[in-house]
Amino acid sequence: MNFLRKSYPLLRRSIVSKIPSHKPHSPSPPLFTRPIFNPNLHSTNKLFSIKRIPNPFSQRRRFYHSYEDEPEHWYHNFRAVLIVIVVSSGAILTIYFGRFETVPCTKRSHLILISPSFERFLGEDEFKELKKKFKDKILPANHPDSVRVSYIANRIIKALQRGLQHDKQLRSTSEVSSKATKKKVSVPQTNHLEGLNWEVLVVKDNSVNAFCLPGGKIVVYTGLLHHFKKNAEIATVLGHEVAHVTARHGAETITKNLWLAVIRIVFKLILLEFDMPDLVNEMSTFLLQLPFSRRMEIEADYIGLLLMASAGYDPHVAPRVYEKLGQINKDSALDDYTSTHPSSMRRVKMLSQAQVMERAVSVHKDAVAGHGVSGFL
Ligand SMILES: [Zn+2]
Repeated sequence: MNFLRKSYPLLRRSIVSKIPSHKPHSPSPPLFTRPIFNPNLHSTNKLFSIKRIPNPFSQRRRFYHSYEDEPEHWYHNFRAVLIVIVVSSGAILTIYFGRFETVPCTKRSHLILISPSFERFLGEDEFKELKKKFKDKILPANHPDSVRVSYIANRIIKALQRGLQHDKQLRSTSEVSSKATKKKVSVPQTNHLEGLNWEVLVVKDNSVNAFCLPGGKIVVYTGLLHHFKKNAEIATVLGHEVAHVTARHGAETITKNLWLAVIRIVFKLILLEFDMPDLVNEMSTFLLQLPFSRRMEIEADYIGLLLMASAGYDPHVAPRVYEKLGQINKDSALDDYTSTHPSSMRRVKMLSQAQVMERAVSVHKDAVAGHGVSGFL
């Protein structure tokens, strides 16, 4: 027993000598990681084999560090999980409902998420609401302004339908030839234009404006008629509005807005600490929404030009209409960066391009000569 009592300090020193020197960067391990009992220390048989005693500190350090250094997985981060949910929801919707369609005339390819029938339903529903809203301001069908606008609109709609009929025949021929040559031909999307119940409303309002809702619902404000007296001028505006429906710009806007919302949510989550949701909204509008909108306007100008020409209206009038609209709205070159619509200068420049105007003039000549429409899709 006495031997054991004397040997205890020796044993302790031996153990301590095996303990590595103090490392300032190693924090002391938490209490619950410390071994409570080491049976080797109490075994006299192990007294002279002390080298084999495992170093308690190294064990503790290893245990402690493995707790501290464990890499954090992304799914432990609530924000990262939200971002993944939002992006994958957008992707699933796009994969399930989305499809690329070809715009008539321009052959541009765009992604569309909603079906033609749903798009038509949205347009018709909004038209019903507008009828309620403008109840007392809607001019009767026999009012001279209503008669005039309906006459011009009908000519444009008939031109569109003739073009569709012509291109249907052309398409079946091209499908046959593409099958023969095994070449993939992009066919413009026109199903949404079939069987539409076109309606025209003239609303007593000083706004210089007009629009066409999906489903073929045309609304014209009398303010526009006060500024544009010639039929060809009205035809320019109506051709542009009908072109928006022809190109499914409403459905394209809904699709883009869905992804814009996804991008906004993701950026807001990433920049959460900086608390600047307004900046995210403004930047995404400036960099994404407005450029898309301006591009659709330019496309509608072009398709509208061909529509008015094939309806028998002189396409040379169109650039002057956009110039005048720019003067009325007091637009500037800045609109090419900050507005939903391009500046009148840009619109005039695009329509006055030789190949654009030449095509429109050719369509117009055919229409006036009564040769029928050569197709414009
Ligand atoms: Zn427009």
